[in-house]
Amino acid sequence: MDKVPCLLSVVGQSVQVITATDSYNRMNSMSSNRHQLQCRISHTLWAALESEQSRTGDSIEHIVERALANELDLKHHSLFQVSTTSALVEGVFDGCTRVHDLKCHGDFGVGTFEGLDGEMVMLDGVCYQIRAGGTAHEVVDSTPVPFATITRFVADQHFRVDQVGSFEELLSQIDRRRPSDNLFAAFRVEGCFENVSLRAACKAAPGEKLVDAIEHQSEFSATQEIGTLVGFWAPLYAKSIGVPGYHFHFINASGKFGGHVFDLSAKELQVGMHVETDIHLAIPETQQFMAANLSADPSSALERAEKDTHREQGPG
Ligand SMILES: [Zn+2]
Repeated sequence: MDKVPCLLSVVGQSVQVITATDSYNRMNSMSSNRHQLQCRISHTLWAALESEQSRTGDSIEHIVERALANELDLKHHSLFQVSTTSALVEGVFDGCTRVHDLKCHGDFGVGTFEGLDGEMVMLDGVCYQIRAGGTAHEVVDSTPVPFATITRFVADQHFRVDQVGSFEELLSQIDRRRPSDNLFAAFRVEGCFENVSLRAACKAAPGEKLVDAIEHQSEFSATQEIGTLVGFWAPLYAKSIGVPGYHFHFINASGKFGGHVFDLSAKELQVGMHVETDIHLAIPETQQFMAANLSADPSSALERAEKDTHREQGPG
């Protein structure tokens, strides 16, 4: 008699392999936008899965997610960059694409909205707008976007970081895991943040450039927030296109609070790293973009916009 196939069940962000007599009903509160997959697989496949798990130390959920993304030809190592930092620094804030188009290219990312109207976080395919004081809400798909960095996030590697006293400490721990300064990478960092210091860009006046618009940004902080950091590393050579170095935005578990990250602390965080191997640059065809002078190096303006010594330099 044939053996009963294994039952593979993916629940939220955890995976359980269960038999007919097992039961499961738990759902990670932070993964409400994720789906549950349940199917039977052969013992041969199951043995191969277990072998891959012990070889890589990765969870079965992550192995399954990677394998599915590859099989279904989801371009999960492709970065979708809308507009450029050189344009953002020059005040090119007119929308050139919409949230719907971003979702066609990924489910994870950061950016800003038309007129520099707040910070953008996309997490698990839900796009949030964060305004003054950190108030966040989900936006409709027709919302115009002038600048964003989006990917389809499937972690290549997971690791835990402990006793994170500052944003700098988190970044230096992430540094040790990044394969190269010359590759783009995305990071999903989850946990309970003892403290998180944030900002939200506030709508720019007509004609205002980034450095001036950031003068009236909203800065705020929170304690004991459970949530997720959505962020990227971009190589220095890409400074006219993406934000060089690290750039992180935060959204809390309820999706009601977030911002562009200045500083943080946490006892323990889970980090997923996703290395990008190609870029799709969407060049705006707006009148404003076409008329802008984009010949200047945006680096110093990005640093001034940041107004502090943090290693990440974030305009949106
Ligand atoms: Zn930002």
